[in-house]
Amino acid sequence: MKIFCVGRNYIEHAKELNNDIPEEPVIFLKPKSALLQQHVQFYYPEFTNSLHYEAELVLRVSKNGKYVPEHLASKYFNAITVGIDFTARDLQTELKKNGLPWEKAKAWDNSAVAGEWLEVTPDMLKKPINFSMALNGEIVQKGISADMIFSFEQIIANISQYFALNIGDLIFTGTPAGVGECVVGDELSGYFESRKVFNLEVK
Ligand code: ZN
Repeated sequence: MKIFCVGRNYIEHAKELNNDIPEEPVIFLKPKSALLQQHVQFYYPEFTNSLHYEAELVLRVSKNGKYVPEHLASKYFNAITVGIDFTARDLQTELKKNGLPWEKAKAWDNSAVAGEWLEVTPDMLKKPINFSMALNGEIVQKGISADMIFSFEQIIANISQYFALNIGDLIFTGTPAGVGECVVGDELSGYFESRKVFNLEVK
């Protein structure tokens, strides 16, 4: 199982981190060990002083594929949820500045959170999807799939030119504006439309 993540997929978020708007999806990976398993506590990592949440729509791949054309891409995932791409922002900023790979900032154990999986129906994809995340009960991030620079289909078509897609792979599709820090004791809740799909306490 692989975890793909898209960076800078919302204009307002690219701007808040002073990044350029990409012409092609920015893709990075997290290993299987990055996925927080159910009923496992999330602990604030000791190697960062700036833990950021990034709430994102997450797709689960349901079909093996390579060179998937955009018009068939919607057949390659059948489950969706909201998740968190946790980021050690201080490390990431340092690594970016030095032109070094991001893994230590992004791909550590339990840095990928996926909420309750919802079945993708054809109707669901006909209209934009709203999602949000609350920090201690207050909404801090609000996204709508229509604001993505690259659509689900474009992301899948692009990823599959480079990497085989396998059943069970996850795709984090990028975060909207509003990323921020969290600290020990914070409670993060993710919502797919109005449905709560996860609730996590930072230990
Ligand atoms: Zn992200």
